[in-house]
Amino acid sequence: MTGQIKLTGMVLVSMPVGDYDRRLTIVTKERGKISAFAKGSRKPTSPLLGCSQPFSFGEFTLYEGKSSYNVVSADISNYFAELRNDVESIYYAMYFCEFTCYMTKENLEAGEPLKLLYMTLRALSKPSLHKKLVRRIFELRFLAVNGEMPQVENCVLCGREEMLNAPKGWFSPSEGGICCEECRRKRMQEPERDGVWISTSTIYTMQYILATPLEKLFTFAVSEEVLAELTGALEQFLAKHVGHKMKSEEMLEIF
Ligand SMILES: [Zn+2]
Repeated sequence: MTGQIKLTGMVLVSMPVGDYDRRLTIVTKERGKISAFAKGSRKPTSPLLGCSQPFSFGEFTLYEGKSSYNVVSADISNYFAELRNDVESIYYAMYFCEFTCYMTKENLEAGEPLKLLYMTLRALSKPSLHKKLVRRIFELRFLAVNGEMPQVENCVLCGREEMLNAPKGWFSPSEGGICCEECRRKRMQEPERDGVWISTSTIYTMQYILATPLEKLFTFAVSEEVLAELTGALEQFLAKHVGHKMKSEEMLEIF
């Protein structure tokens, strides 16, 4: 089927092609991740110049050919211009786009990932929010959107809940969440054990990130200790369950 369609989305990647064109990767609400050519968009007078920049969000009118899309026009409602004045914000935004690109699929609607990405880029321009926390909130919530999140409500092995009365819990990526003391001890005897101790505050923070409405997701702060534990737990979990190092991740290490 060929013809014109309108899709709501955000540009994740913009690659120059030939002398004047760009190839865009766009995450769209209706069709997930797509590739689209923005022909002539590298000419300074092109009407597609603005819409072919990374982070441009809006409604794209596309011509759907047999094997690819071509951008006809775009109605951009947010360019996230405020991020471009701050190097740290740009690098974080690039990481969030690369993560989204890796985790979304073609022809599978992506309304929730798109909304999460949009809210996360907005959160980057809030000076009160620690960007390292914004990153961990984004990653954990993205796993939830994809149905790959850790179990942090009760013991992932036996279902016991009273463990939350203990000051710390054992978070095991290979088991898929937190384990009670009894299960942890049994597990410790196995050769390929993994995991990290996290405090009850960190467990509650994870529960909050997984359960709260998107609009309220970026409205809290945590202590340095909780941020460090959240970071350690998520790094292990992502290594185990995503298993892919994003290229833009390296740039974040300088902040
Ligand atoms: Zn248990």
